[in-house]
Amino acid sequence: MLKKVLITTAIDYTNDVIHIGHLYQKVLADCYARYYRDLIGKENVRFLTGTDEHGQNIERAAIEKGKTPKDFVDEISTLDKKEQVSLNISYDRFIRTTDDDHKKTAGEFFEKVYKAGFIYKAKYTGFYCEGCEEYKTEKGLVNGKCEYHPTKEIKKLSEENYFFKWSAFQDFLKEHFAKNPDFVIPRSKYNEMKSFLEQGINDIPISRPALKWGIPLPIDKTQVIYVWFDALINYYTYGKPIGFWDKDTKIIHFLGKDNARWHALLWPAMLKAAGRRVPDTIYVNSFLSLNGQKISKSLGNIIKASELTEKFGTDAVRYYLLKYGPLLEDADISLEKIKEVYNSELANNLGNLVSRVSKLAEGWGVNKNQSASWRINVKSKTENVKAEMQKYIEEYRSDLALQEAQIYLSKLNKYVQEKRPWEKGGKERMEIMEPIIADLIHLAGLLKPFMPETAEKIEKIFTVKVITASEPLFRKIRG
Ligand SMILES: [Zn+2]
Repeated sequence: MLKKVLITTAIDYTNDVIHIGHLYQKVLADCYARYYRDLIGKENVRFLTGTDEHGQNIERAAIEKGKTPKDFVDEISTLDKKEQVSLNISYDRFIRTTDDDHKKTAGEFFEKVYKAGFIYKAKYTGFYCEGCEEYKTEKGLVNGKCEYHPTKEIKKLSEENYFFKWSAFQDFLKEHFAKNPDFVIPRSKYNEMKSFLEQGINDIPISRPALKWGIPLPIDKTQVIYVWFDALINYYTYGKPIGFWDKDTKIIHFLGKDNARWHALLWPAMLKAAGRRVPDTIYVNSFLSLNGQKISKSLGNIIKASELTEKFGTDAVRYYLLKYGPLLEDADISLEKIKEVYNSELANNLGNLVSRVSKLAEGWGVNKNQSASWRINVKSKTENVKAEMQKYIEEYRSDLALQEAQIYLSKLNKYVQEKRPWEKGGKERMEIMEPIIADLIHLAGLLKPFMPETAEKIEKIFTVKVITASEPLFRKIRG
């Protein structure tokens, strides 16, 4: 039995404000947070998002803008939050790695792993990508460059670092992967991580000398904790003290494919080294592109979530992302594509049906003995739709779940068209309409995690004492 759920997103790096590419994952995670709240109760679900604020790139970006790193990250994290709010992301906490409780927890975690004998000092010589702030192996380079930063020169580093004995957890990880075929989802990413594991894991440096903007090592104040080791601990910083890091909690991390290796292979090893439980599910989403091109500020190809929500509305953008986003593989968006889906699936299929039904039922009231919400209890034919949608959600297929809802809405539209209730009066019309209204109320409940505001509007339209013709939920966009 599912008791508690902790859902997290990747925390975004504060060298710049997040764009729609980052926000896809927030919407996906939010959909799950809302789904589980409906399923097991609000008090049993926690949803964490936030910002990753330490490291060299941030220090550099701040200096370029003539700001202190702290002022700089304050600004970016505030703007990031605003972007999340524009998509109605219902996080319980927005954590920042510069928060005092996180700095303290990260230091303690480091010390625990050190005392357990899994951290040692050595000289590191090798490659480092400043873009990723990651140590790279020669094998991992593409044409001698980082695969994510092909325009940046890769640096050769030679420095004294503290190393994490990652290699000591190779067998543990192999066993964990073998026993938990759903540890990493989707399957393609699971296989990718498994093959990394099979190539063998090397110890990695987890501290940086001569860097000021970071959490100092508790055992050596001349170095700071390396960004990844610092950032990953944020989940634990939040979950542990509120009782959401115990064995009764299902822990689901949502993150992008560029972060998969750290979450699927490093994070479980770190937790094991600290004697802590590992997460249940690592969900890895792919990348979003815009108009067929990588979303990138340097390419001038960027769109903010708030720009899209101003044009289409929050729920329409959520719907589009959850149905057509990079769930399993990379996906492309454009204003034209969103408009097309908006008009056909939201304005025509869902919106039209709701307007039409509310207009046909206008003026219908309830008996003296009935409460306004009696229609909720009318038997609905949507039980199958509910089961199918739930199945798809549990399989991490938000796209197919929404497809189910669309198919049923099309059926209802067709049914209304065939039965022509507008030609009928009184009791006859009511017999046609009541089951449709019941279905719409139930469907609204099922759509809540995806389109919370729209679902609420639909419920309201059909559960009031006297139904009135509704305003269009989605006004058709022309031109
Ligand atoms: Zn890179």
